[in-house]
Amino acid sequence: MIERLCVIGVGLIGGSLARAVREAGICQEVVGAGRNPQNLQTAIDLGVIDRYETDLARAVAGADMVLVSVPLGAMAAVFDAIKGHLAEHAVVTDAGSAKGSVIDAVRQAFGVVPAFFVPGHPIAGTEQSGVEASFASLYRGSRVILTPLADTDSYALDRVRDMWEAAGAEVIEMDSVHHDAVLAATSHLPHVLAYALVDSLARLSDDGEVFEYAAGGFRDFTRIASSDPVMWRDICLANGDAIQLMIENYVADLQELTAAIENRDGQQILKLFTSAKAARDRYVEK
Ligand code: NAP
Repeated sequence: MIERLCVIGVGLIGGSLARAVREAGICQEVVGAGRNPQNLQTAIDLGVIDRYETDLARAVAGADMVLVSVPLGAMAAVFDAIKGHLAEHAVVTDAGSAKGSVIDAVRQAFGVVPAFFVPGHPIAGTEQSGVEASFASLYRGSRVILTPLADTDSYALDRVRDMWEAAGAEVIEMDSVHHDAVLAATSHLPHVLAYALVDSLARLSDDGEVFEYAAGGFRDFTRIASSDPVMWRDICLANGDAIQLMIENYVADLQELTAAIENRDGQQILKLFTSAKAARDRYVEK
């Protein structure tokens, strides 16, 4: 049971977690926090939170669980603001899409990574943002990756695990460096490619003519380019090294495909497409 959950950043991710724990009946009170009172009032109106604070020190006072779910670029300022104001028994976790940068931000704010801090990342989301887009079932059947450090308190880890499991997620643990490499490949690179493709096509013609002839394939491939640009800028900055490696690897592979097309090497093109289709079919079946 969580007595008071403080959600800092009541958007898609924080709002959905708040809805889920309320629906599961494991939380007595949810305090929302952020910069924008209008957004936070909407969260009350939608029944996502019970009350809100725009002063983060006041927001965390007395909370036994704190979830930080703001864009990665805002994490450091949030940890700085809550330091010294947490309840003695508080457990703090986050939902950031990269883990190394958040752990660094916590270390910088607190001097060490406190044992009560459990880094986390729900592998769930949509291209929508904001509390209006949040829904209680977002995490049902999804995975949440926790990246505890050697000194992370096992009680804190268990409490965060219990919270996500109550929201319907399967919780797994991973080293933070491995997390950042894996997510750079499976999430960050596809988003970078979707943004780059749409931007490249948009610049082909001033009047957007190219999009008039786009069909389902384009829509499928580019859906994630509708995601929040601030969030994705922050992810590129926070996990830049791992993303850069993935882009370089992808560019090298794309050059091989370009050469095969240039050489009209049907056999090579078919081999690559067949292998890609088999890999995707296996992924979809799973
Ligand atoms: P979101 O819908 O835009 O919500 C973020 C919330 O953070 C906003 O409602 C905003 O509320 C608050 N915020 C923004 N800047 C802030 C600041 N400087 N100080 C305090 N509060 C601030 O974003 P989201 O999709 O929930 O993402 C939140 C976190 O989850 C990010 O770290 C992201 O990397 C991670 N994540 C996202 C997804 C996804 O698919 N969207 C999936 C997994 C993890 P106010 O305007 O009221 O301040």
